[in-house]
Amino acid sequence: MEMTLYLVRLGEISLKGQNRDFFERKLKDNIKYKLRPYRSRFTKQKGRLFIEVDAEAPEELVRQAISTSFGVVGFSKALKCAKNMEAVSEAAATLTSRPSFLDGVQTFKVETVRADKKFPMQSYDISGQLGYEILTANPQLKVNVRQPDRILHVEIRDHAYLYASPEPGPGGLPVGTAGRGMLMLSGGIDSPVAAYRMAKRGLRQEAVYFHAYPYTSDEAKEKVISLAKILSPYCSGITLHVVPFTDVQLHIKTHSHEEENTLLMRACMMRIANVLAKKRNCLAIVTGESLSQVASQTLESLAFTNSMSDLPVFRPLVGMDKGEIVVTSRMIGTYETSILPYEDCCTIFSPKHPLVRPEKEKLTEVYDSMGIEALLDQALEDAEIFAL
Ligand code: ATP
Ligand code: MG
Repeated sequence: MEMTLYLVRLGEISLKGQNRDFFERKLKDNIKYKLRPYRSRFTKQKGRLFIEVDAEAPEELVRQAISTSFGVVGFSKALKCAKNMEAVSEAAATLTSRPSFLDGVQTFKVETVRADKKFPMQSYDISGQLGYEILTANPQLKVNVRQPDRILHVEIRDHAYLYASPEPGPGGLPVGTAGRGMLMLSGGIDSPVAAYRMAKRGLRQEAVYFHAYPYTSDEAKEKVISLAKILSPYCSGITLHVVPFTDVQLHIKTHSHEEENTLLMRACMMRIANVLAKKRNCLAIVTGESLSQVASQTLESLAFTNSMSDLPVFRPLVGMDKGEIVVTSRMIGTYETSILPYEDCCTIFSPKHPLVRPEKEKLTEVYDSMGIEALLDQALEDAEIFAL
């Protein structure tokens, strides 16, 4: 079977000591899963992962699989050849005569890394010789060592590897190396970005969405399912729990003052998320909150919501401006879906003048007096589950 070779550069993983193997194995599993049903073979070398993929696999699928996998800092299709100068010259000629190397290119340079110090030529001399040969075959090109349009990379290892123009990867650590978290996923801009940021630190996530039908429409639910699907490659799969929330919200409305509604609702979400998290072996909650963005995210409000959780609550966006969050949201492809106009339950039940600086003790008393625990249990029991 013909296979195409990809060279993957690893970042933070290479700095790991004793348990580097664990991180590399997770990365391999994550990429291999995305490449199914095509055959793939993985080999590791210090700082590098080599992937051979069935040549029939569409290039776009392979690129998507690698470029969404945290732990990768860069990657490129590569050629592998015997470790002698004749074979390296031939491979260089093949690679540099391709349109993918030549198109729109006026200047280039060759960069050689000689990991095998026993190789008889020095890096500088290898680059020099290949540069000369490429110039001879392509007299229209020039060498520019400072700002070339294209770089031919040569790595002398167990074999010689050649590649050009590596694409950037997402960095971070492989999903699944940091344990599991429960993401509170709404239809907004923020929580999908929070999911991305925590996945980047290796957290595997399940998601929970609170749905208040018919106050929130079926479209709002479909929107959250779409967001989870977009997040799925970054998260190496995501299980979404859709919790019916209408009865909880109506109960809050009739048992509290209007200005307390939002925070009591956030408290109920946090409680349910905690129970669900523990059921699903998650050790943390993830939200898209950002300090002072809205009334329910002032320091006092966050302190109250936090007190409803006995698991750590990760808020990776806490110090980010909306503009910065939007940049990431566009980059990961959730923005266009997030801005679809279907309202989520928070907007519909929002008071005109929500509490901005709640007193934690007072609000906790209101919460306790509502007698809402049985409704929360019921809501969780009635959840729908989607594997995305
Ligand atoms: P987002 O853009 O993520 O919707 P937001 O700016 O609208 O956030 P809030 O509505 O206050 O802010 O929600 C804060 C966080 O609470 C969200 O980022 C999300 O993690 C969680 N959350 C809010 N509504 C829901 C919901 N219906 N289901 C699940 N989680 C929710
Ligand atoms: Mg929202």
